[in-house]
Amino acid sequence: MPSRFWANRAWQAGSRSNWPSVKTERGSDYQVNKEEAAIVRFIFEKFAAGWSTLQICDDLNGRGVPSPRGGTWRRSALYGSPNKGSGILNNSAYIGVYIWNRSQWLKDPDSGKRVREDRPELEWKTDHRDHYRIVQDDLWHAVRARMGADRLNSGAKGKSAPPRTLFSGVLCCALCGGALTAINPRYYGCVTRKERGKHACEGISVYREQTDERLLSVLRDELCSEPAQADIDAGRSPISRARRYPPGRGQGRQSKN
Ligand SMILES: [Zn+2]
Repeated sequence: MPSRFWANRAWQAGSRSNWPSVKTERGSDYQVNKEEAAIVRFIFEKFAAGWSTLQICDDLNGRGVPSPRGGTWRRSALYGSPNKGSGILNNSAYIGVYIWNRSQWLKDPDSGKRVREDRPELEWKTDHRDHYRIVQDDLWHAVRARMGADRLNSGAKGKSAPPRTLFSGVLCCALCGGALTAINPRYYGCVTRKERGKHACEGISVYREQTDERLLSVLRDELCSEPAQADIDAGRSPISRARRYPPGRGQGRQSKN
């Protein structure tokens, strides 16, 4: 439960928060952790000043500031979802408005595993705790204003759906091992670089067209090979066989992003 100050529910599991717990008349409560507070304020100030979330993450990663999970910072940790209150820039605890009861753990009848389910907003509970305040109201509102403008702008530009590709998510970045996906219509690129900045991974990018052609020709050869034909004759799927033994990775043209 301690991570809610960083990012509310988004990173609750496995994250760490250093807000010390203290006993009060009302039960246990938290005290603001000064180091976290400085980082939170930095994130709000830079975002309000026009930095992109990627620039902020890259700056934090470049300085070796650990993310709430202890790894590198990524954009979604900052931006999250305004509706769900997730993401540091949406966390109202930083202006002293503490919200809880947003979700509950239910047991999945099929798997027996506990799953988190969002509660409707009507069931959320709010408490004003001004001693949690890290960010002043004018800064909070400046961030809200910019988020609203971002959404309007992206709507006006007709934000297109991510490009459909043959091999997105199947390929890995040779430098960091993260996924490669279509970063634009022409290139596959490293997701770590895209979401966390160059200090997390320098990033590679490869031409999609050439990469697709090369991989398809490998697949074609594989499908026409004798073992694959034997699989076909035996009624097994050569596609699943090819996926089990993927062709070499990182074969395409590499360039710094
Ligand atoms: Zn990478």
